[in-house]
Amino acid sequence: MSEMNVQDTTQPESLEYRTEVKQLLDILAHSLYTDREIFLRELISNASDALNRLQFEMLTNPDVVDADAELAIWIEVDAEAKTLVLRDSGIGMNREELIANLGTIAHSGAKSFLQNAGKGQTALEEIIGQFGVGFYSVFMVAEEVRVVSRSYRAEDHAWAWTSKGDSSFTLETVEEAPRGTSIQIQLKEDATEFANGWRIEQIVKKHSDYVSFPIYLVEMEAPEQEVGDEEATETKGAEKQAKEPRVINRRTAIWRQSPSKVQAEEYNDFYKQLTFDTNDPLLHVHMVADAPVNVRALLFVPSKRERGMLQMRPDHGLRLYSRKILIQNNNKDLLPDHYRFIDGVVDSDDLPLNVSREMVQSNPVMRQLKRALTNRINRALKELADEQPEKYLTFWEEFGVFIKEGVATDHANQEALTELLRFRSSKSDGKWISLADYVGRMKADQAEIYFVLGEDLKSAARSPHLDYFRKHEIEVLYLVDPIDGWTMAMLREANGKPLRNIDDAGLELPQDESATVDENTPALDQSAFDQLVARAVEILGDKVRGVQEGKQLVDSPVRLVSPADSFDRDIQRVLRLTEEGYETPKKLLELNRRHPMIVNLGQMVARGADEPLVEAAILQLFDNALLLEGLHANPVDMVERIQLLMAEAVAARAKGE
Ligand code: ADP
Repeated sequence: MSEMNVQDTTQPESLEYRTEVKQLLDILAHSLYTDREIFLRELISNASDALNRLQFEMLTNPDVVDADAELAIWIEVDAEAKTLVLRDSGIGMNREELIANLGTIAHSGAKSFLQNAGKGQTALEEIIGQFGVGFYSVFMVAEEVRVVSRSYRAEDHAWAWTSKGDSSFTLETVEEAPRGTSIQIQLKEDATEFANGWRIEQIVKKHSDYVSFPIYLVEMEAPEQEVGDEEATETKGAEKQAKEPRVINRRTAIWRQSPSKVQAEEYNDFYKQLTFDTNDPLLHVHMVADAPVNVRALLFVPSKRERGMLQMRPDHGLRLYSRKILIQNNNKDLLPDHYRFIDGVVDSDDLPLNVSREMVQSNPVMRQLKRALTNRINRALKELADEQPEKYLTFWEEFGVFIKEGVATDHANQEALTELLRFRSSKSDGKWISLADYVGRMKADQAEIYFVLGEDLKSAARSPHLDYFRKHEIEVLYLVDPIDGWTMAMLREANGKPLRNIDDAGLELPQDESATVDENTPALDQSAFDQLVARAVEILGDKVRGVQEGKQLVDSPVRLVSPADSFDRDIQRVLRLTEEGYETPKKLLELNRRHPMIVNLGQMVARGADEPLVEAAILQLFDNALLLEGLHANPVDMVERIQLLMAEAVAARAKGE
């Protein structure tokens, strides 16, 4: 009479895994990975997530199933039966969720792991632990797994999911089960160590000590073996006894403790358990404040930009708690974008508990938290730079690019971030200097901070723009990171001094004739020079904005300068890298009237001699200048031209000798 309930079918139903799961299971089952214990970390982490989600749900929903059940994790081991059961009283899963979550690949670590599956078995085994492959890692130790789950929703009922880790799993209904999920593992013959209480305790301490819910260890004991025949037969059939459950994790929210009470080692352990990074962090910042906003935060700078062989953390962000209840796993609104390499936990009593995850962002407390945390990180980095300059440079080499991005994008913090910038220069001898260092040793009459952009340190050091500065011993910063042009364009001045790109045609420098004029190389006379300029204009056509005399050139024959009106020319360099087909605006070619090659070329033009050679030489000088600017010329044309020039040079020498 009543409608059929399809879910009440008592027949177990068998379902195939998705192909990628089969692939993953195949690798895991045959893996000789030695740190198999990480499966427990993965299961505990899932259980803890499920508990967090339930706790969050209960803030607004009074109708969850078993509302009074303790929020905890129980690990039951039975050495004799070789079983391990991990149960949580978390959010649970209904049938659809079981299929979606344990039949496909949800875990992002597992996804990237599989993408690397082409690289061979050994490589994979080395990285299983780094990726964290999620739930399926259980099949490294399990013969068979049965997951019994009861969702928190009253309308659902309990389901059992069973699999041997081959190509399929089965689903069936279960009469009764407490809210949450229980993972029942029949251990493989070579994995029975995981049925021992002491071993479980050891693993939990190592990987999951700071999980905030209690983890109970429940050890099953074989009943006492009594002497005497009758008793022995009696005990055979007796139930096994569970020892008194005991909590085995420390579960302290160390970010809520006073910093003076926390040991350096504890910070490191906490960081590793939080991020799964195997290295200690480079820096930790423990912040405890009540005004202007209540905040307990523990933030970390990792030791490497990329942890492990591959990016282990697919998503960045901080863990946001309100009074120890996890609100969000990867919150991105607590720090400016350029601090996205920072990991950690933020807890505030000022955040309303019933705030939905979506509403977190627009909460005014969030803005206050962001300001407080940002200032604290700025300060911590400044302190590191002042007090441990060596260590700061390790930080700089790893994360400097984020600071540069911040200088360009975060106006409110620009000043603080500018102090954190480091540069190499024409006088720093390969060492890093700050802008304060530079300004501190500026020449008495120097009013600006000079910099040159280049592809790398070597080409920057060879830049023709440096001629004048080298001669006058004026320090020039070398900017060789693709992001640098952008950063400098947005910064414009530092320590009260304007920043100037020395490729600027409008740059005004005190002309000290005696320093630039070399009596031994007489300049090309005006009329020959004018003819050469006219010829160059003809040959280069619209490749350049114009051709003119370069008064600051000393050892270099030519250079390319930016017309003074190209306002954001430093950004061109960035655009060139980021936008396909981007054409850099035309530059001005400057000729050095005193350079022997220019002098000779000018004389050839005046005589109307050897046109092809003149043309090739001018085009090649232009391409050379492009190369030195880090703006690539067309290599094919160039090779042909170089051939021609070489042939000419060799022929001339052969005739002369
Ligand atoms: P991840 O945890 O990274 O998502 P897993 O493969 O470990 O990947 O788990 C897949 C999904 O299964 C989880 O996202 C979660 O939705 C669900 N899940 C796993 N374990 C539990 C659990 N103990 N309680 C509730 N849901 C769980």
